[in-house]
Amino acid sequence: MALEQQLRVPGPTPLPERVVRSQSRPMINHRGPEFAALMADVCGGIQEVLRTRNDVLLFPSSGTGGLEAAVANLLSPGEKALFCSVGSFGDRWADIATAYGVDVVRLKMPEGEAIDPEDVERLLAENPSIEKVFVTHNETSTGVTNDMPPIAAVVKGRGKLIAVDSVSGASCLPLDTDGLGLDVVVTGSQKGWMAPPGLAMIAVSKDAYAAAERAKLPRWYFDFAREKKFQERNQTYTTPPISVMYAVQEGLRMILEEGVENVWARHTLVGSMVRGGVEAAGLRLFAAKPYRSNTVTPIHNPAGTPEELSKLLTLLRTKHGLVLAGGQGDLKGKIFRIGHLGAIDVGDVFAILAYLELALSELGLLSRVGLMVPAAQAIAREGVASAEPVGVH
Ligand SMILES: *Cc1c(COP(=O)(O)O)cnc(C)c1O
Repeated sequence: MALEQQLRVPGPTPLPERVVRSQSRPMINHRGPEFAALMADVCGGIQEVLRTRNDVLLFPSSGTGGLEAAVANLLSPGEKALFCSVGSFGDRWADIATAYGVDVVRLKMPEGEAIDPEDVERLLAENPSIEKVFVTHNETSTGVTNDMPPIAAVVKGRGKLIAVDSVSGASCLPLDTDGLGLDVVVTGSQKGWMAPPGLAMIAVSKDAYAAAERAKLPRWYFDFAREKKFQERNQTYTTPPISVMYAVQEGLRMILEEGVENVWARHTLVGSMVRGGVEAAGLRLFAAKPYRSNTVTPIHNPAGTPEELSKLLTLLRTKHGLVLAGGQGDLKGKIFRIGHLGAIDVGDVFAILAYLELALSELGLLSRVGLMVPAAQAIAREGVASAEPVGVH
């Protein structure tokens, strides 16, 4: 039995010691000056990481609440809108809109593949009434990172609004919110931000506020306009998760001390190491090149049956203390996933690969051991310059 558990699912992610300690501070009045300072610091830090001057609205919620907020604020009943899905989180966003009575046009890619900007272009040309497009930046269920610049260029080129789910991408993967003209970017505290679950963070452009004013879907808890008014005074409408905000503040300090671009480069390196390591042992990656995510790696079930895969994940957890994720939805039993976002470095990848190799060989699923770590070491030795380039690769 391992002394400590290593949590390597794609959210929630491990908390650095500094972040854990930051949360043990006493409660403060959320209508007082200490909270106003905390709020200003947190929102300013998120803006810096997301490369935006847009407001960052904070709602006490998981990431899904942020997706629902975007739907409820931007759309009207019966309005036609384009939802680009490359997996279960993309489907979830479209399902939320369907539940709200939106006329959803779904661009659905086969699992493991990325959105082709030409498909977006074609659908917008075929459906001139569509004014808003919803895209997943990094699809956690399939390990696909969509190439946002050309997709955003198509949408913004036609003068439409673009909303992006970057819950598991933001802070780890390059995302130039203002440079790309992204109108809504949704993210969540428990993924790349190195904080616990509980806070949805949503960057909202002026055009998105204007659309929200015209949009007719019912909304209450997630009302952008009301939240904006409160946040102008550095308050939130409801009681915020203050301890989670302490954690986000400390996580942001760590990100900004390291440098945002260095954080992106670190994820490129660890992503390359994970992929290089598992492929060296003959395991097969699920996502198609060149859109493989640098925050999560899904791997085809190396064990054959779903029961054998479940045995592998259980052995890793109980004997080696390594917690990996299975597949979501249709992919359950077919893949398993390694989360490598937030607090992760080169040494952590060695540990993940070494335990994975050990467990695979213990179950008789590897004919040769000792291949994974050296392959990852070779990538680490060359450094980020030799790793696949930052962004889509
Ligand atoms: C985690 C995640 C979400 C939100 O999930 P919650 O469990 O509601 O926090 C949404 N989209 C993506 C891509 C995610 O990875």
